[in-house]
Amino acid sequence: MSATNRLKIATIPGDGIGREVVPEGMRVLEAVGRRFDIAFQFDEVDWSCDYYKKHGRMMPENGLDQFRQHDAVFLGAVGWPEVPDHVSLWGLLIPIRRDFNQYVNLRPVRLLKGTTSPLANRGPEDIDFYVVRENVEGEYSEAGGRLYRGTENELAIQESIFTRRGVDRVLRYAFELARTRPRKQVTSATKSNGIIHTMPFWDERFAAMKADYPDIATSQYHIDILCAHFVQHPDWFDVVVGSNLFGDILSDLGPAVAGSIGIAPSANINPEGDFPSMFEPVHGSAPDIAGKGIANPIGQIWSAAMMLEHLGHKDAADAVIAAMETVIADPASRTRDMGGKAGTAECGEAIASVISAG
Ligand code: ATP
Ligand code: MG
Repeated sequence: MSATNRLKIATIPGDGIGREVVPEGMRVLEAVGRRFDIAFQFDEVDWSCDYYKKHGRMMPENGLDQFRQHDAVFLGAVGWPEVPDHVSLWGLLIPIRRDFNQYVNLRPVRLLKGTTSPLANRGPEDIDFYVVRENVEGEYSEAGGRLYRGTENELAIQESIFTRRGVDRVLRYAFELARTRPRKQVTSATKSNGIIHTMPFWDERFAAMKADYPDIATSQYHIDILCAHFVQHPDWFDVVVGSNLFGDILSDLGPAVAGSIGIAPSANINPEGDFPSMFEPVHGSAPDIAGKGIANPIGQIWSAAMMLEHLGHKDAADAVIAAMETVIADPASRTRDMGGKAGTAECGEAIASVISAG
């Protein structure tokens, strides 16, 4: 994608700590924008569980139409205890992912300098890979149902839907991503011994795609042993690709081996760029700490860096990550979840001022 210097960003702070960390992400974007000559226009909406309580829906009907021409969506967190998860999820997040055809969910798993992994003796050189998850089809489908409720014969059926087009495009994304990386390696996650229709199909498509990329090394594991390898051999991986369900599992396990949930970023990507992609931290609205000004803003700020890179501003993205590492190295600037005492705004300000000083 070619870089423009005027970016229109839709911001959705959402619920809970989303409203505290999104402003820090914007503060950092403004700072990096001044340094790299990028002008941001932020168009903010209050779509959230609060909006739902007032209007009976998570966002206005056709609400997404106003953002179709935007460069990206910058989201905080959505979800609140009194509102059922399926309402917030199917009322806001899933419509955005599906309407904007964000069929790749991308999570970097990278141990930042200054953070520690729960895995003993593992440093930044051991943990540096991406999880690529299929984001719109597969196991998370509405096809299926329940029969004979309340009887001895009661049963539930849930269908998975894997299309050649859907599988091929996410595999292609993974192979192209591997090409941009020094190790040039793709690992596929399946479970073809237990799930005998969809998973062998995925394996076949993986083999076909591999033939197009002779420069990329490949490996394949069943999801169960792959989870074990994430913990025991994180240094084996470069780009790991999986279906909606397996990718979902790996994309939580990955950030867990790279330290605190408060710092992990993610991207919902529309690789063709015909609609905006969406960038959001991995964590949720964290009701237990919301409103206290103590949430870690780094997951949001790192997501802003992914957004910059996606929009063609790799230098600006690198500057944000370098500033995050500088700030984390100083225990006084860390938030509580990382063992420090700094508040959300203090941590965000520190990162912005390192960028401005650079
Ligand atoms: P969701 O289901 O919306 O993904 P969740 O209910 O699984 O979210 P979170 O809201 O992410 O979970 O919170 C999980 C725990 O992590 C909570 O104890 C929360 O306080 C903590 N946490 C999450 N994000 C942060 C953050 N940015 N800074 C500090 N602690 C955080
Ligand atoms: Mg939750």
